[in-house]
Amino acid sequence: MMNHREAIVVPEGVRDVLLHACCAPCSSAIVEWMLAHDVRPTVFYYNPNIFPLEEYEIRKEESKRHAGSLGLQWIDADYDHERWLAAVRGLEHEPERGCRCERCFTLRLTATALQAKELGIVTFATTLASSRWKSLEQIERAGLAAEQAVEGTRFWAQNWRKGGLQERRNQLLREYAFYNQQYCGCEFSIRR
Ligand code: SF4
Repeated sequence: MMNHREAIVVPEGVRDVLLHACCAPCSSAIVEWMLAHDVRPTVFYYNPNIFPLEEYEIRKEESKRHAGSLGLQWIDADYDHERWLAAVRGLEHEPERGCRCERCFTLRLTATALQAKELGIVTFATTLASSRWKSLEQIERAGLAAEQAVEGTRFWAQNWRKGGLQERRNQLLREYAFYNQQYCGCEFSIRR
């Protein structure tokens, strides 16, 4: 189960992780923490939920810039927004933290698990679990569903707001001068 109260704990024996990065700001403190604890993240950018394409490109370039500054391997996945829209059809009017979001997480984390398997990396994690706007329970369920869908992979369920990482994220956001995104990602989360 996800560790909601205690500090961050590296699962036993884990040295390599495929880290699904939702964006550079959410990745920054997690990547720093992993590197300081002998865990090597490979960054996987798979976020077909982001709309419009211009916004996607900006966030993607920020993620690439961040990973590049640390010499990390960074993998660019496809931007298939049509497929994402098909996956959440019927849930367009759900509020944030509703059913659409869990479907969105499951799609992205299943792709992450598949990529991990292809790379021969057992453990995968996500930076989604660092955002205070998202439901940790939904992320955990999505990660476990992805793990079950892709044999031989393991989801590192972790509350990444612990251990001072929330504060560190805010510091790094200023240090890197990351792009300041104004909404979660999809067209249904744009506040009008
Ligand atoms: S609000 Fe965010 S998490 Fe929810 S469906 Fe849209 S992009 Fe995905």
